Amino acid sequence: MKVYISADMEGIAATAVWDEVDRKHKDYPAFSKQMTSEVAAACEGALAGGATEILVKDAHASGRNITAGELPKEAKLIRGWSGHPYSMMQELDESFDYVLMIGYHSWAGSGDNPLSHTMTGKAAEITVNGIKASEFLLNTYTAAIHKVPVVFLSGDEALCKHAEKLISGIHTVGVKKGVGDSVITMQPEKAVEDIRLKVAEAVARNSNDCLIDLPEHFDLMIRFNKAKDAYKASFYQDMSLEDEQIVRFKTADWMEVLKMIQFVL
Ligand SMILES: [Zn+2]
Repeated sequence: MKVYISADMEGIAATAVWDEVDRKHKDYPAFSKQMTSEVAAACEGALAGGATEILVKDAHASGRNITAGELPKEAKLIRGWSGHPYSMMQELDESFDYVLMIGYHSWAGSGDNPLSHTMTGKAAEITVNGIKASEFLLNTYTAAIHKVPVVFLSGDEALCKHAEKLISGIHTVGVKKGVGDSVITMQPEKAVEDIRLKVAEAVARNSNDCLIDLPEHFDLMIRFNKAKDAYKASFYQDMSLEDEQIVRFKTADWMEVLKMIQFVL
């Protein structure tokens, strides 16, 4: 059984402000250590549930947050960024049985995590077919291209609730709740334990109810924080400027969406 893990940091237990997820800041080491612990726990849970191969993508900022030596020997780790449009899902293909997402966070514009955003800080809001687009949603669609079910998510509570609506059989661990510019967090070691247990459950069961149907058509709206970014993006092929800060992009091909995101965000 082959398992793919995509890991971010703004949905790791206790993270509350940008300094804590910025490798140049003195607050960072404790939180990157927690990210490593949560990802290692997901690997251990996957192995307990029957995984034989694991590929982890370190998908936050520099892509160099997880300490490779702390992961089980069955795991391989992708560090840095290749430039492939799959981005946080680099190297995913149909050979994988399951996708797990660790440390994920709410979408751009959400009030449920002080670190909410989608891909970069440029977009105030992104919608796909009218649904507020989180990185979870984008990456779930990427997994759906290859018919790989997303069976587990850890991150902020609001994103977990959103995920449970989209994927009926998904297992989640909500490690913190955002309130304004604060978080109410689970004790970090408890988060690690819960992730290990729930991942083992998630990969050991039949997960037909975790595979979503990829929509046949994609209508994307991006509302930028700055009008100058919308103006520049409007020159991307098939993009239209709807308003000073808003662009729209329509396609039937998810890969075209991913390429567009790579170039305009
Ligand atoms: Zn991140």
